[in-house]
Amino acid sequence: MVRINGNYLKLPGSYLFSTIAKKVAAFSETNPDKEIIRLGIGDVTLPLTPTILAAMHTAVDEMGQAETFRGYAPDLGYSFLREAIARTDYQKRGCAIDPEEIFVSDGAKSDSGNIQEIFDNACRIAVTDPVYPVYVDSNAMAGRCGDYDKEREVWTNVIYMPSTSENHFVPEFPKETPDLIYLCLPNNPTGTTLKKSELQAWVDYAIKNRAVILYDAAYEAYIHEDDVPHSIYECDGARECAIELRSFSKNAGFTGVRLGFTVVPKDLVVDGTPLHSLWARRHGTKFNGAPYIIQRAGEAVYTDEGQKEIRGLVSYYMENAKVIKDGLQSLGFEVYGGVNAPYIWLKTPDNMTSWDFFDDLLNRANVVGTPGSGFGPSGEHYFRLTAFGTHENTKKALERIRENYR
Ligand code: PLP
Repeated sequence: MVRINGNYLKLPGSYLFSTIAKKVAAFSETNPDKEIIRLGIGDVTLPLTPTILAAMHTAVDEMGQAETFRGYAPDLGYSFLREAIARTDYQKRGCAIDPEEIFVSDGAKSDSGNIQEIFDNACRIAVTDPVYPVYVDSNAMAGRCGDYDKEREVWTNVIYMPSTSENHFVPEFPKETPDLIYLCLPNNPTGTTLKKSELQAWVDYAIKNRAVILYDAAYEAYIHEDDVPHSIYECDGARECAIELRSFSKNAGFTGVRLGFTVVPKDLVVDGTPLHSLWARRHGTKFNGAPYIIQRAGEAVYTDEGQKEIRGLVSYYMENAKVIKDGLQSLGFEVYGGVNAPYIWLKTPDNMTSWDFFDDLLNRANVVGTPGSGFGPSGEHYFRLTAFGTHENTKKALERIRENYR
C-alpha cells in the first residue's frame, strides 16, 4: 500500500506570506482608495541590464541555427561560466577555488534546499534564529528535525542559535554540538553580517567539531565594508569544512531568469568520502543543467561592462536602504542592517509584537513589511523592510512613516 512522506504533514503552513497577502487583500477591500506600498518581499524590481540582455539575445539566435544549437547542457555547468565564476568571485579575491569545484544550478533556493540530501538523516542541524525558512523546512521534509512544537514555534530536533541585538547578531556557539551549520551572510532577514575574525571563529569551530558549514552568500554583492568577507573561503581552513551557495538573483536581477551555483571544495572529506563526488552524483542524477541561454547571461555578468552594470543595480537598492535606515533612525527607531545588505531590520516601537506592528503600519501608513516573528521566535518584536522597491515608492513610504510615527 502506498504511503506518503509523513514528514510533510508535520510542516507548519507557510503562514507568513499567505497571512500577509490575506491581511493586505482585506485592507484593500475596505480601503479601495488607499495606495499600498510593498516593502515586504525580497524580489527585485529593476530590469536586466543591457550587457546581459545582449548576451541572451545572441544565445537565443545561436539556438536557432543548426551549427550553434545546443541541447542538454553539461550537468555541472558550461566551463565558460564556471571559469568566469572561479576567476572573478574567488581567485581575484585570493580564494583558491577551481572551476571544477563550482556546480552551476537554477538558483540558491534549490541548492540550499537540496544540499541536505548528501548527509545522513541522523545529522543534527543548527540554524540561526531568525532564519531563511528553506534550511529548516527542507531538513524537516527529510525527517531530520523531529516534531514541530506549535506553541513554541520550533522543531524539537533543531539547534537554534538566537541572533538578536543582545548578541549584536553574532550567534554564539551552541551548547549541543551540531553536524551541519547553516550560516547566511549577509543575513536574510536581519541584514547584518560577520566580520572576518568572527567568521574565522565559526570555521575553526566547525573543524574542531567535525561539522560542515553550509554558507549561503546570496547577498554577497551588497557587502560594502572592508572587514566583511565576501566568501567563506577567505577564512583559513574553510576548504575543509564549508560549502558555499551563491545566486544571481539579488546582484544581477535574475529572480525570474534563474541561475545560481554551489561551491564544494575537493578538500571537504567526510568519513573518507569527498562531498564533491556526492554532490556531483546528486546533481548529475537529478538535474539536467541550467539553460545555455541563461548560462551565457551569467557569463555576461562577469564581463567588465556586466560588472559595472550590476554594481549600478546594487547601488540603486542601497540608496533605498539608506533612505529607509536614515529615515527610521531620525524618527527614533532602533534599526539594524541596511549597510551590507538590502534588508533593514527594526525593533518594533513600544515593544509591539511583530504582527501588531504589521497591522499598525498597514493601517496608518499603508506600507507593507514582513513581521520578524515569521522568521523564527527570536524575530519577535522585530520587523523587516526591503530596499528592493523603486526610489519613488521607498521615499513615499518613508514620508508616510514620518507623518504617522513622528
Ligand atoms: N538564499 C537566501 C538567503 C535568500 O534570501 C534567497 C531569496 O530570497 C535565496 C537563497 C534564493 O535565491 P535564488 O533566487 O537564487 O533561488
